[in-house]
Amino acid sequence: MVYLDYAATTPLRPEVLETIKNALELDFGNPSSIYQIGKKTKRKISSARESIAKLLGIIPNNLYFTSGATEANNWAIIHQAQTARKLGKGNHIVASAIEHPSVRETLVFLEQEGFEITWIYPDENKHITLQAFEAASTSKTTGWVAMAINNEVGAILPTVDLGKSAKQLGYWFHVDGVQAIGHQLKTLIPYVTSLSVSAHKFYGPKGIGFLVYQPWETAMLLKPFIHGGSQESSKRAGTENTPYILGMAKALELSLDEAAETQANLFEINQYLIEQLDNSAITFAINGDNDSRANHIINLWLPGFSSSQLLIQMDLAEIFVSAGSACSAGSLEDSLILKAYYPDDSQRWQESIRLSFGNQTTKEDIDKFIVQLNLIKERNHSYGI
Ligand code: PLP
Repeated sequence: MVYLDYAATTPLRPEVLETIKNALELDFGNPSSIYQIGKKTKRKISSARESIAKLLGIIPNNLYFTSGATEANNWAIIHQAQTARKLGKGNHIVASAIEHPSVRETLVFLEQEGFEITWIYPDENKHITLQAFEAASTSKTTGWVAMAINNEVGAILPTVDLGKSAKQLGYWFHVDGVQAIGHQLKTLIPYVTSLSVSAHKFYGPKGIGFLVYQPWETAMLLKPFIHGGSQESSKRAGTENTPYILGMAKALELSLDEAAETQANLFEINQYLIEQLDNSAITFAINGDNDSRANHIINLWLPGFSSSQLLIQMDLAEIFVSAGSACSAGSLEDSLILKAYYPDDSQRWQESIRLSFGNQTTKEDIDKFIVQLNLIKERNHSYGI
């Protein structure tokens, strides 16, 4: 099998599996119980929180465990928008138009609740710029939203610059940090009021993630999202998912340890793919912002190939790629991200695929992908497809 869909999810690391298994077996005590085994579990959760906080350079109290990034995005954006409006600051938010559905649909929900959203589309150079955010802001603006790295085309957004400016202007600033790897997340920390992270993108389990919440002002302190018990400082009630919290802390530690090495490998894989495509008879173009693109995500326009057909034919050969975000691929809808970049080029929306790489990707995987692409091209040509 050739797995080229790490942006959708990553396999669990063996060390993480071990941590989870141990916790499932040994740390079954309820962290809220006051007897020894409960207290022991509580201590383990605290040390996982401290370890993640230390790795990222944040205060442990500013870290909230969630069921993943979708929840963290919903929580942070809705809370900040509503609190700022209640404080009389305004009801306007500026957001990039290439956000993940968990952010985009949260903002659409807020729009229905009377908020005004200005979407920033890629400019003629395919860039999402600070200037565009500044130009779109008005006296009613309270916050900005921009993802660190786009999950479909790998575009790196100028989140550090956006964060610096947002801080000066007094706006809350939410970043979906899901596709940012290791040190990229750390760099962002001083410039965000909120940041969402998902463990299954860095070889941790699915269904767990966290929100970093650090407002510029006390009036914006985080409000409870799930009401009930006193877990997560009484802000997200419900018995903690101890095994996955411990597994996520382990996964983050390991992926940060290897961040430099992984980046170097991803850079090489990315270059190698482009070279091999250049040397082949395949016509292709890179979608999105190729000047500022993460090494682990590449979205290719392959004129003459239908993306849905290509996905199926690759699948039959046990090569797993995607046509964009997993959700839009599942429902076979045109990608809103490609539409944002190429509003007048419907052919491109239907002839593009996403490849994403991770710590197990090799040049041999890329060779197999290219061989299969050529085979599919020949086969389709002989059937007149
Ligand atoms: N944001 C981005 C950029 C993603 O790629 C994903 C995962 O697909 C999410 C948010 C959602 O994360 P989770 O699966 O943890 O809810």
